[in-house]
Amino acid sequence: MKPVLRSVSVALLLSVPCAAEALYWIEPCTDPATSCVAGDVELARWALEAWQSASGGKLQFVETKDKARALIRVVWAGPTDGLYGEAVPILVDGRRGAQLNVRIISGTGDSGTKDTLLRDTIVYLTCLHESGHALGLPHTAQFADIMYSFQFGGDIPEYFGRYRRKLATREDIRKNSGLSEADRTKLAELVKSR
Ligand SMILES: [Zn+2]
Repeated sequence: MKPVLRSVSVALLLSVPCAAEALYWIEPCTDPATSCVAGDVELARWALEAWQSASGGKLQFVETKDKARALIRVVWAGPTDGLYGEAVPILVDGRRGAQLNVRIISGTGDSGTKDTLLRDTIVYLTCLHESGHALGLPHTAQFADIMYSFQFGGDIPEYFGRYRRKLATREDIRKNSGLSEADRTKLAELVKSR
C-alpha cells in the first residue's frame, strides 16, 4: 500500500497583504482515529514559521485560539488511502483563507521498527507543503521542492528520508526548513506581487 497522491490541492492565494498579520489556528490533537499526537501542533506551527522566516518578514502568522477568525486552519484528518493532505479554500469575513487537512501516515524505518523522527518528518513536511498551497504556491515537478507533487512519480521514501537524515533530535526540525532554493524564490515572487 503505497501512497501515490500527495494532495489534491490547487493554488489558493491567501488574502494576506504584505506585512499584514494572518491569524492561524491549529486543531488540538483529540481524536485518536487520526493518529495525531499532542506534539503535532508544534510541528504545524514550525511549518508556518518556516514560511514566515523565508518571506523575510513579509508574512506574519499569528496563532489564535479562535478558529472562526483564523485564515489558516490546520485540521488533523482521518486516514484516506494514498493522500497526505489537502488544502481547501475557505472564506473568513470575506477574505480568502484555507483549511489544511493533514493526514498522519506514520513511517517505519528500514528495519521496520518505529522511527518517531521519520513520522515527525512526514507530518512536518506535509504541513509545510499544504501551507505552501495556502500561500498560493502550485505544485512543481522538481524533486527538491517542498511543493513537488508525488504525481510526478518520484521516490517517496527518499523524499522523506533525505530530510529525516538531517535530524538527530526533534528540535533539529526547526533548524531545517525543508524549503528548496526554488521554493524560496517562488515565495519571494509571490509576496513581491502583493
Ligand atoms: Zn499539494
